[in-house]
Amino acid sequence: MAARVPISFEFYPPKTDEQREQLDRTVEKLKAHAPQFMSVTFGAGGSTLSHTPETVQRLRSEHRVAGVPHITCVGGNREEIRALLKLYRALGCDRVVALRGDTPSGMVRSGDLRYASELVELIRAEHGRHFHIEVAAYPETHPQAGDALVDLRNFKAKVDAGADGAITQYFYNTDAYFRFVDDARALGIEVPIVPGIMPISNFSQLRRFSEACGAEIPRWIGQRMRAYGDDADAIREFASDFIARMCERLVAGGAPGLHFYTLNLARPTLAVLRRLGTDPA
Ligand code: FAD
Repeated sequence: MAARVPISFEFYPPKTDEQREQLDRTVEKLKAHAPQFMSVTFGAGGSTLSHTPETVQRLRSEHRVAGVPHITCVGGNREEIRALLKLYRALGCDRVVALRGDTPSGMVRSGDLRYASELVELIRAEHGRHFHIEVAAYPETHPQAGDALVDLRNFKAKVDAGADGAITQYFYNTDAYFRFVDDARALGIEVPIVPGIMPISNFSQLRRFSEACGAEIPRWIGQRMRAYGDDADAIREFASDFIARMCERLVAGGAPGLHFYTLNLARPTLAVLRRLGTDPA
């Protein structure tokens, strides 16, 4: 890779013993790459309320890595958020990823806080500078945003509220990222904006997921995937190669880090890292 930048990995909290064992194996493999932190998502609506803290604790005490919690505000009240922040401080966390989250379909409960900017405000008001706060950013625009410029201003509101950095939604179009960073800088946003990287393990799942979260899969990638049909080796080879090249371009163009959405699998992320030549520390 042109320059060594910090990397981080994201997991979802396992709910069964089998999933826990899988995550343990994944963490042990990825840990060798000396990540800056490993973050754990948080399901809106309380269904995984205890799974995220459990997983963060496990990362920190069993695996001895910097486990970082995601906190969402949709569907939760101030007291629940306060209790979580207190718990994370007690676990030794000094970094969080602060998000609005998405209300699960069918869920009617709405929280005390409507937007991630209000969550950032709450964390800063009650914990001062204790937590390093990351927020989400959308180079291809959040799907519910009025338009791209409104979304950019809403991103600025999170930074003005006290966010220290941002991690982007995944994308496969580097121009979208570079333009987003330029536009953010022009608005006076100075925090690091780390690209979120989604290695590909299951293309049909990725296609469904991308439609929901507003990430575009370029036509040429879809066409390649279709051409490979059931040839899993060819798909893996192609996907890890183009994602590694994308990472190289991002870093060469100034990306301050790389955040990998692992989906709790080691192999797709390791295949990209191997091509980047980031030897385990
Ligand atoms: P916000 O920044 O609040 O923005 C949400 C929408 O509201 C945007 O369209 C924005 O333009 C608009 N908006 C913001 N402020 C205002 C305002 N004042 N007035 C009007 N409109 C406004 N989801 C989970 O459930 N759990 C996770 O752990 C999780 N982790 C994530 C990690 C990363 C790095 C990323 C990129 C996403 C993650 N998500 C997670 C998904 C995220 O919760 C969704 O994308 C969600 O829809 C928006 O969250 P946000 O924090 O970006 O919201």
